[in-house]
Amino acid sequence: MDQDIRSILKTYFGFTRFRRGQEEIIHALLEQRDVLAVMPTGAGKSLCYQVPALLLEGLTLVISPLISLMKDQVNALQEGDVPGAYLNSSLSPVEYYTTISRAVQGDYKILYLAPEGLKREHIRSLREQVRISMVVIDEAHCISQWGHDFRPSYLLIREFIQSLVQRPITAAFTATATDQVKEDIACILNLENPYMLTTGFNRENLYFGVQKITKAQDKVQALLDYLKNHQDKSGIVYCATRKTVEALSAALSAAGYAATRYHAGLEDWERQNNQDNFIYDRKPLMVATNAFGMGIDKSNVSFVIHYNIPKNIESYYQEAGRAGRDGGPADCLLLYSPQDLRTNTYLITHSQSGELPKDPALISHQLEMLKAMTFYATTTDCLRARLLAYFGDRPANYCGNCSNCSTGFESIDISITAQKIISCVYRIEQRGKRFGKTMVVDILRGSKNQKLLSQGLDSLSTYGIMAEMDTHRIRTILDYLIAQEYLTLEGDTYPVVCAASRSREIIFERKPLVMMLPKEAAPHTPALKIAELDEQLFTKLKSLRNRLAQEAHIPAYIIFSDASLRDMCRKMPLNPEQFLRVSGVGEVKMKKYGAVFTRLIREHTIGGG
Ligand code: ADP
Ligand code: MG
Repeated sequence: MDQDIRSILKTYFGFTRFRRGQEEIIHALLEQRDVLAVMPTGAGKSLCYQVPALLLEGLTLVISPLISLMKDQVNALQEGDVPGAYLNSSLSPVEYYTTISRAVQGDYKILYLAPEGLKREHIRSLREQVRISMVVIDEAHCISQWGHDFRPSYLLIREFIQSLVQRPITAAFTATATDQVKEDIACILNLENPYMLTTGFNRENLYFGVQKITKAQDKVQALLDYLKNHQDKSGIVYCATRKTVEALSAALSAAGYAATRYHAGLEDWERQNNQDNFIYDRKPLMVATNAFGMGIDKSNVSFVIHYNIPKNIESYYQEAGRAGRDGGPADCLLLYSPQDLRTNTYLITHSQSGELPKDPALISHQLEMLKAMTFYATTTDCLRARLLAYFGDRPANYCGNCSNCSTGFESIDISITAQKIISCVYRIEQRGKRFGKTMVVDILRGSKNQKLLSQGLDSLSTYGIMAEMDTHRIRTILDYLIAQEYLTLEGDTYPVVCAASRSREIIFERKPLVMMLPKEAAPHTPALKIAELDEQLFTKLKSLRNRLAQEAHIPAYIIFSDASLRDMCRKMPLNPEQFLRVSGVGEVKMKKYGAVFTRLIREHTIGGG
């Protein structure tokens, strides 16, 4: 079994190693288990169901919300000789029927389908005549009202699955889901004892930045400044409204950038055309509303800039996460103006035309989500830590690769502070008590809260010894001491702080302790790390790839991702065997492209490049 999986991975997809979570999910699916997986954008969710689809008998149906995505995914599959197809409204009636009848004949292993398609009568023959062994729900958060992108058509999926004679394996995938949304997905889809997997949300290659800008004109300038330093890169600029998209894309084009636009107000043909221009790198800059991007898996997006603050952290992380899918360094910047909050509050509290009046509970939920987003925009803490903590990860307080960490942090000697905090825990324990983090901080700060006073805790010798430090900072240091195992948290429902044996090092051995902490006021200047690379060869490989893509009428990254080209620069393959070792090169691609690429690399090397 493992042998089959590995050989499929290399032969069809060109990879030798699984990424985090992939192998476990593939195993679960092959053991006929339902799956609910939450993995960040770019983590490689597609592979998790494509590999089992090739090994399972019958057909795998993939429900996916966006037409553009399907075409892309199927193109990519076909590049690796995987038999796949899609059914959606972009097909002509003839194409539609042909695809169905070929599916019935068993020509495909994977069939993509838009959720609306489940309503169509034609699906019946598929349902009745084909063994559907697995149903995959991509972007599964769309099924939940509590998610950030609810789509009523997703509710058709449940009924469809129930209508199948033999219950298929059901696998749900999404990049962002809070616990509530996860529960909703499992419940609505009727998942049976699903294998649940939430890989961490961290994406190390992404740099996060916030730039606070108060005047509207300054914002255009900030954007132009950024673009000037990232000339030949591809990126997305997200705006809150169609009007801003119009104005900004015009301004960027006028400034000489190859920019295009996307929003729900454009004609279908124009949207499609603009999207293609972006995907095929004819216009590497996309200015868009949030209508753009779900399912776009262009792998060489080097930056995602939010020109306005988005409505919630879920949307932000998903949109920003479209940068750097290939694993290379990429920037996620938010240009934050407090005025933008008004637009968002308006959009949340008012129904748009054609919508039903909003449920007050939903409105207040969405306003809460906007508040969390605003905290992100204004915090002086590590931005990555903020995002990850929001999704329930337990990040370190300093990542070193966000605008707050790179400019707003300094290394601080916390030896004395640590001694104070730990002695406080000792004193509490001497009284035979244990408290949660909040109470410990309250004691240190000398709070007058009733619960504290009524227990006489103000008579502890450590009461009020840190009155001068703000609560949040004490809390950060306390968390650090716990993470470093000087203190521990015990108990599940109500965790209390206890001294660990290591705490002796601080109290009795007076060990010095240093940590990174936010400076009081933090200026923001984004910086970007660039990997060392033979840039000349990389450029040559890119243009060869573009030429081949043009000839084949497919997007360049379907041939090879930037990550694969970078790996070629690193490995410099000169013959087929060496070429096969490049990440993203399988048997099929080796046969198709091995000769031309290795020839180019050879010429480059001999030419002394
Ligand atoms: P997601 O759907 O989770 O956002 P995708 O399935 O679109 O991510 O995959 C993102 C990128 O990662 C694709 O370019 C894909 O080819 C690549 N990828 C997936 N799995 C692997 C792997 N095991 N090794 C190397 N690259 C991978
Ligand atoms: Mg995906």
